[in-house]
Amino acid sequence: MDADSAPIAIELKPTSRPTSARDRAEVLRAPGFGTYFTDHMVVIEWEQGRGWYDGELRPYGSFTFDPAAAVVHYAQSIFEGYKAYRQPDGSIRTFRPDANGRRMQRSAYRMALPELPVETFVEAGDVLVRTDREWVPEGAGRTLYIRPYMFASETFLGVRPSQHVTFCCIASPAGSYFKDGVKPVSIWVTREFTRAAPGGTGAAKCAGNYAASLVAQREALRHGCEQVVFLDAVERRWVEELGGMNIFFVLADGTLVTPPTSGTILEGITRDSLIQLAKDDGRTVDERPVSLDEWRDGAASGAISEVFACGTAAVLTPIGRLCWDGGELDCAPSGEGPVTRGLREALVGIQTGTAPDTHGWLHQVC
Ligand SMILES: *Cc1c(COP(=O)(O)O)cnc(C)c1O
Repeated sequence: MDADSAPIAIELKPTSRPTSARDRAEVLRAPGFGTYFTDHMVVIEWEQGRGWYDGELRPYGSFTFDPAAAVVHYAQSIFEGYKAYRQPDGSIRTFRPDANGRRMQRSAYRMALPELPVETFVEAGDVLVRTDREWVPEGAGRTLYIRPYMFASETFLGVRPSQHVTFCCIASPAGSYFKDGVKPVSIWVTREFTRAAPGGTGAAKCAGNYAASLVAQREALRHGCEQVVFLDAVERRWVEELGGMNIFFVLADGTLVTPPTSGTILEGITRDSLIQLAKDDGRTVDERPVSLDEWRDGAASGAISEVFACGTAAVLTPIGRLCWDGGELDCAPSGEGPVTRGLREALVGIQTGTAPDTHGWLHQVC
């Protein structure tokens, strides 16, 4: 075991002034998404030649950084996201945190950042959720969203992998994504912008991918759509994914089709879980390229009966209107389809402990 693969100790230094039960209840009444944070955070430092050190849980609070900190110049930065769910037996469990830990290692490799041991990644989330367990909201669709991330914290303007890196894990209570019930989203097909090219960073969960998607998202909003879908960068023909969600097509015979994650598509853990659940249900799942033409023709003819996007934050979102430069069509004229709904219920059932955890995906925290 080298220095970077041995688990790192996390020392507990909790706050002496936690949020009062009354103030917390006020926040948990309408947590929204990404606005409020719990009382603590976990921070672990890394230095070239020394490895990971100084792991600690400490009061949530600002970092101070030098104006020459590498991350704000060269965006050497990655992140993850997963959720903690209250269970019927009163325990709190997270969903597949080890898969997030492994993905963070792959992202780290691509961005020349150090790999955090998966065990430590999971432990960081566990320590935080255990300490701030009162912040896990109760109620349908309500969760504690856990956000681990890592960034180049060295003060240096030279262009090379940072020799000082900071890992941090914060948590934010999240309300139900669908406040007024599930409603199909409208999607804009961008032709001007692409998200990922072969050999690029599309498969890494890196900060820059999100920065690069915002202008396309703005283009979508200008065209009256809520989300943007990207085509491949080479032929501008194949459907890849949304800015932060993978995409699935349901064919008329019940087959599921999703584009293959061969380097330009982020390997979603929701995507992976849904492929498994659909197979459990006896469905055929094809991971193959889908062209924009196939989508448009299939939605018009009925060969494609449902389309949905998926990711940790929104779980499954049906896609309704598809708009492009020159036309539009409705992929969900009668609202959410039965396959989309069935898959969401199967996944959420496991996550919230109302259905058997047949694949051992839940991780008990406390
Ligand atoms: C995080 C992310 C997803 C969804 O991944 P999950 O693990 O399911 O949350 C999909 N696409 C992109 C670009 C992402 O960053």
